[in-house]
Amino acid sequence: MFDKILIANRGEIALRIMRAAKELGIETVAVCSTADKEAMHVKLADEAICIGPPAARESYLNIPALIAACEITGADAIHPGYGFLSENARFAEICQGHGITFIGPKAEHIRIMGDKIEAKRTARALGIPCVPGSEGAITDDGEAMRVAKEIGFPVLVKAASGGGGRGMKVARTADDLLNAISTARSEAGAAFGDDSVYLEKYLEKPRHIEIQVLGDGQGNAVHLGERDCSLQRRHQKVWEESPSPALNAASRESIGEIVANAMRELKYLGAGTVEFLYEDGEFYFIEMNTRIQVEHPVTEMITGIDLVNEQIRIASGATLGFTQNDVVLQGHAIECRINAEHHATFRPSPGRIDYFHTPGGLGVRVDSAAYQGYSIPPHYDSLIGKLIVHGRNRNEAMLRLRRTLDEFIIEGIDSTLPLFRSLVRDGDIQNGDYDIHWLERYLAAGALE
Ligand code: ADP
Repeated sequence: MFDKILIANRGEIALRIMRAAKELGIETVAVCSTADKEAMHVKLADEAICIGPPAARESYLNIPALIAACEITGADAIHPGYGFLSENARFAEICQGHGITFIGPKAEHIRIMGDKIEAKRTARALGIPCVPGSEGAITDDGEAMRVAKEIGFPVLVKAASGGGGRGMKVARTADDLLNAISTARSEAGAAFGDDSVYLEKYLEKPRHIEIQVLGDGQGNAVHLGERDCSLQRRHQKVWEESPSPALNAASRESIGEIVANAMRELKYLGAGTVEFLYEDGEFYFIEMNTRIQVEHPVTEMITGIDLVNEQIRIASGATLGFTQNDVVLQGHAIECRINAEHHATFRPSPGRIDYFHTPGGLGVRVDSAAYQGYSIPPHYDSLIGKLIVHGRNRNEAMLRLRRTLDEFIIEGIDSTLPLFRSLVRDGDIQNGDYDIHWLERYLAAGALE
């Protein structure tokens, strides 16, 4: 097992990793930018090192500074969290080259899944069902038109290196197609430095359902059920829950087994998420994330399995200590991502938190690095924290969510708490009746103004 882990991240996920490390008896090193000197992850770590100025590319993405911080502190492993360097295969290789364990998948798997075209090709070869679309990148307009007509409009133009919903454009008719391709290309080129795009059938009313997996790199792998992340704004998840209100035990088991088998065949190492769109009873693979995800606590609440603890154990060479039969899904969990943004305009609201009170009680978890008097810097994402509730069934979880949202107080900055207080009272949400476009329609109808 490791003696000391350096956490190459900030915010709530840095605290989350620290908690797992401490419970395993491992020392922790925090890194921070000059904008984060007062951050909670710096206060709670055993040691902290400032690695650069506020801009992420000069601090949290600064590979030489991170490696130097490991060498100075004697850390023998790095946990990248999510975002930043978590899906950077080159970084994983550089760590290994310096004798530092990267707590995450093998570099080759990060690389395959980081390229969505390669990821789809691999998924198909492993027997995972995919969205119909182009075989690979689209290279000329004539070919694009032929493929689009074959799969049928509307089609979605997607960036091969895409992420965070960027570089995606819908073409409703043949007339829109070339325009959509050039817009997606320039957006992708600017955001990811790679302008290759591909085509996919655009699904009109799917749900976003993802399967959590764990593998030990030696051919043992399990799935931990699904998360329904259909409530999205601008392709960003807002609310996640498990089990999905749309799945039954048979469909869960069937897709879960397909995914777990694929991971066994890949000899996948660490935690990962295989993402699908689900429409009319069919699953369509869209991508795989080779890291811990923001919404991982939902799965932890219904399985009782500490995913970050497992990531650390597996990275240290341990085998998976349990089989699929040992995984029991219990009750229902819901997570709300509370951002420092206005609840209706979504304008970012960095600044000082004057008053901060978090809810508590049975089945309640708040993952946050915020505190009263803390100033949210303007340089990073706007997540203040995640509220996760667990109940014996969905009804109990919804009642608990309603109660805890009313108990949560954040003053001094805007937060998206009022959005969730409305959602939890909405009839469609109470019935679990929503698809990936539901929230955009709800917001466009002015429900919150
Ligand atoms: P990113 O990596 O940018 O998050 P994804 O491929 O995971 O991109 O897709 C993000 C979201 O975009 C999905 O959750 C879904 O809401 C929407 N989306 C992706 N592919 C399709 C599709 N073929 N049809 C309809 N919506 C899609």
